[in-house]
Amino acid sequence: MSLEEGIALSKRVAPKYAPAWRSKSPREQAAMAMYFLPHGSRKPTLCPTRPRVVKWYCPFADQSRFPSGHRYCINVYTGCSHGCVYCYAAGYQQEQVREKRDFAKLLRMDLADLEEFDVPPAPIHLSNSTDPFQPLEATAGYTRLALREILRHRHRFTSVVILTKNPRLAFESECVDLFHQLHAPSAECFVEVSLAFWRDEVRMMFEPNAPSIADRMEGIRRLRQADVPVVLRIDPLFPRSLLSDGSSNGAYQDANLLQPQTLDDLERLVGFGCDVGAKHIVYSPARIVQPRSRPLSEVMRKMRKVYESMAAPEKLTFRGGSWRLPSANQTEVTEPLRNFCSRLNIPAKCCKQNLLETR
Ligand code: SF4
Repeated sequence: MSLEEGIALSKRVAPKYAPAWRSKSPREQAAMAMYFLPHGSRKPTLCPTRPRVVKWYCPFADQSRFPSGHRYCINVYTGCSHGCVYCYAAGYQQEQVREKRDFAKLLRMDLADLEEFDVPPAPIHLSNSTDPFQPLEATAGYTRLALREILRHRHRFTSVVILTKNPRLAFESECVDLFHQLHAPSAECFVEVSLAFWRDEVRMMFEPNAPSIADRMEGIRRLRQADVPVVLRIDPLFPRSLLSDGSSNGAYQDANLLQPQTLDDLERLVGFGCDVGAKHIVYSPARIVQPRSRPLSEVMRKMRKVYESMAAPEKLTFRGGSWRLPSANQTEVTEPLRNFCSRLNIPAKCCKQNLLETR
């Protein structure tokens, strides 16, 4: 495809994605179009849906409302074995966990295309819809493979972000050397670790198959001792007791649920982040995600009742496949965490800010 054909293709990008294109030069717009847009389609407007392993970061985001821009994601596996009951990915994908067919071959083809089209560099994230260090990685090794291939094409990427609930495997799978080699002063490689709960009985309720709290803390400590930058995700955040003094579980008790995060829990989690020298802390209020292929889990059905009683007299909003608290409640949910971070002098970023500031 010639440069002129690439420029013509880039003019057909759907309005939802156009802002990510407009900020680039015509040559860069053509390169992005040739890489992301389906070449043979007769549709007048095109979405970045060309089948790719190194794919457009978020196919759902309207770039005028959520300017995540040109960035990549590799979902190293299909599905995720951690089984988090709040999983956002369950809203749009099947849940069986498996290796991707021809992963290595397709990955190398995509990286060769990035070179051939000379696509401008952008951040790359592993992974949005699966944990790259779930137990399958110990035998399949696709994450190690992907990191090695990214390293071979490092100039095509700015930041390299790895998101996991299993930092211990990230440490033990001999990836630390790769993290160091991928790290650059102006375009970091860092590991984001999700650690939303302080008590393991709560973790078992919400993330039944994910590593224990102690295991994750140990993994984070080892990564930090090896000088790997870590972002701590205390994420997602659930509302606390209806009673402002926190002396009772309130709505949680009525629903026969443990309160997910007490103020003490949050303070300890933030303190842990400070002690290990996390870069910053990421948070977002939890949504009740309707899974695509099954009914809500019992825990999340009960949680929806808790949400309804906390929102009353207002109603929950259902948007993008999930129920959300009214915005005033969401502020109440996140404010104590931000206060603890401010008191302990560690930056706190909401999930969206964290993404947009990853360049
Ligand atoms: S680790 Fe992430 S992708 Fe995996 S089940 Fe939990 S929320 Fe979903």
